[in-house]
Amino acid sequence: MAKLLEGKPVAEKIKEQIKQSVQSLGFKPALASVMAGENAGSEAYVKSQKKVAEELGIDYRFSKLGPDTSEGKLVGFIEELNSDKSVNGVIVQLPLPAQIDYQKISGHICPDKDVEGMHPVNIGKLLLGKARIAPCTAGAVMELLNSTGTDLYGKEVVLVGHSEIVGKPLALLLLDKFATLTVCHIGTSRAGKLEEHVRRAEVLIVAVGKAGLIKGSWIKQGAIVIDVGINRVGDKIVGDVEFEEAQKRAAYITPVPGGVGPLTVTMLMRNLAEAAKAQQ
Ligand code: NAD
Repeated sequence: MAKLLEGKPVAEKIKEQIKQSVQSLGFKPALASVMAGENAGSEAYVKSQKKVAEELGIDYRFSKLGPDTSEGKLVGFIEELNSDKSVNGVIVQLPLPAQIDYQKISGHICPDKDVEGMHPVNIGKLLLGKARIAPCTAGAVMELLNSTGTDLYGKEVVLVGHSEIVGKPLALLLLDKFATLTVCHIGTSRAGKLEEHVRRAEVLIVAVGKAGLIKGSWIKQGAIVIDVGINRVGDKIVGDVEFEEAQKRAAYITPVPGGVGPLTVTMLMRNLAEAAKAQQ
């Protein structure tokens, strides 16, 4: 039976380090958070960001713009935050209203204040192995893997999902650790090859957003399984992996909820502390 790989204990340890680095700054760093329009998921994420920020001695400044905010207006708002010396980091909550292109917006956040690591400059640094910070969810997955004490060098790692925000940055971080990496996506499924790749995985990471996509019977005995997916099924939240069956085979498995999720906000605050330190 697999050990549960829970995010909370890992997050608590990292929070202690963040508290120390915030204290050693000698000033209270500020994170500006911008939301446009209404979204229940973002509201919940913002609430947890505010709670963790306060816990760590970070000034959390939240602004909410209307659902019909134009791209130009949001860019203007971000530029004001860029030039505000009292702001150390800027995060724009997703999803944005349909009229706003996130890639354009993230490209306008000053790279030094980009705490999500999604500015093209920071993604470029990640590719070159020179990044100071990593996108939050990808960073959270790496911390969970690290907490198992597993050396990824030469390991068969299968990553399902290649989104800009999770899969692609995670692929770069895994390659940095010399994992033997296979990246699967919708094309792999359509070619009927997902199962054969998943069956070989010593480490399996799934970030798709489809409940039950990965059958428990596909999991290799002794594998580490990290399920990033969040899906609402009836009144329950589940991941992308059939948990009960997978748990019988894996050595470690993340619960959903309670695995990657609780670590993501902590990674955001670590990125903010790093940004504030670099700006000193
Ligand atoms: P996305 O929609 O941008 O990307 C989905 C990926 O899955 C793509 O690479 C796509 O090709 C692949 N895919 C789709 N259908 C597939 C199939 N049938 N077989 C194989 N691959 C398939 O999604 P995202 O933003 O990367 O998010 C993925 C999941 O992770 C979602 O459930 C999201 O809610 C969750 N998520 C969780 C956290 C967290 O903190 N826990 C953070 C971000 C995203």
